[in-house]
Amino acid sequence: MSKKYDGIIAQSQRYLDMISKEELTHEEKEWVVKETVDGFRENVNPGFLDYRKSVSTDYTSVEWRDSGSSFTDIWGKEFIDCLGGYGIYNVGHRHPKVMKAVLDQLKRQSLHSQELLDPLRALLAKLVGAITPGDLQYAFFVNSGTEAVEASLKFAKMSTGRRSFIAATRAFHGKSLGSLTATAKGVFRKPFLPLVPGFHHVPYGSAEAVEMMLESCAFIGEDVAAVIVEPIQGEGGVIIPPDDYLPRLRELCDRYGALLILDEVQTGMGRTGKMFACEHSNVVPDIICLAKAFGGGVMPIGATVARKPIWEKLVDNPFLHTTTFGGNPVCCAAAIASINVLLEEKLPERSAESGAYMLGKLYQLAETYPAVVDEVRGRGLMIGIEFLTNELGYEVAKGLFARGVLVAGTLINAKSIRIEPPLIISKEQQDQVIERLSDTLKEVNAGL
Ligand SMILES: *Cc1c(COP(=O)(O)O)cnc(C)c1O
Repeated sequence: MSKKYDGIIAQSQRYLDMISKEELTHEEKEWVVKETVDGFRENVNPGFLDYRKSVSTDYTSVEWRDSGSSFTDIWGKEFIDCLGGYGIYNVGHRHPKVMKAVLDQLKRQSLHSQELLDPLRALLAKLVGAITPGDLQYAFFVNSGTEAVEASLKFAKMSTGRRSFIAATRAFHGKSLGSLTATAKGVFRKPFLPLVPGFHHVPYGSAEAVEMMLESCAFIGEDVAAVIVEPIQGEGGVIIPPDDYLPRLRELCDRYGALLILDEVQTGMGRTGKMFACEHSNVVPDIICLAKAFGGGVMPIGATVARKPIWEKLVDNPFLHTTTFGGNPVCCAAAIASINVLLEEKLPERSAESGAYMLGKLYQLAETYPAVVDEVRGRGLMIGIEFLTNELGYEVAKGLFARGVLVAGTLINAKSIRIEPPLIISKEQQDQVIERLSDTLKEVNAGL
């Protein structure tokens, strides 16, 4: 037994030495790639290797460093990050101010005692109360988007005493059992049925459909606790609803005594050109869910923020819903810095400007290549390109990858590709992306 552990101590020490090194030799890099591929094959999931093989010419590309709007693989090949971790990197990769806050806090205390009052939780909650619209006031901090949604569903049941929910088709709210119930994609849900009872999905973008469902539920005595939607659907392919959608949902929820939960995990923190997407239509939800970019692209943290009446039962018993790591000091420090940077650098405004610029260029490309591109849509730097077929989208994603631009687009799901770069992306980098996309489209079009 001790022999076995001796080996593991030596192995982990080798990994630690590698982590602490500024520069690796060629041999060390080869060793990292080999260990990584081996680890994925034997101990993570070989499915990822097959997936990488299908989307990349160099499937052993191991990511290594990041800063600003790009990252490099272990061999130094640079990629402009237009995937943005699906909306994590709003302030960019490893923003110095976020890094400093995290490192400063790490030097003092990383996790909280779980018993005394932890100051950073309170300070972050004050800032969150101040930046969120209307009378959203109390914040519960979590570690991920799915947990933020999970908490919102529990809070809705808790505060209304009702049990039904209305969600939308093509919605994505996460993959833990509760939020997966609100998610709408069959492939993700089917193996886990039955999920949480009481959920109804209606077509996204249709306030009439929500109204009919609210009415039906009330009629059969299963009143709706909450309507949950994304202000713009992200995972669904950047689907922008009609302008009056959210205002009408707000009014319907008020009429039927249901809560309005807005999942701004992806649209929040400046992504769409306002701090929160609901601000485009001046709608204040009862609960807003945040995560992804909330931790400044450095730490994982999310939040479920609600109006005061919703907290009543939690005030009676604050232990009704808890989390060990949620809202820990290091993550709160990152989120505080993230809010500071977003406002100080006017990143929501920059997102609006850069988004308008890129969208303009993308509309032109769509016109030039009508046999490839079906539609371009977006708000701020939340942009979707819809291709005529899945195969075409996949070829474009692959061509961009080869040209050093990372976008989301997989073999089985590339009909619409999302462009969600850091909001700090420079004009030069935007032009580079457009130029490389133009080259890729030309190539794909020529192959038709
Ligand atoms: C990504 C996402 C989630 C889930 O967040 P995780 O941190 O992956 O659990 C939930 N809702 C929306 C709108 C998202 O985009």
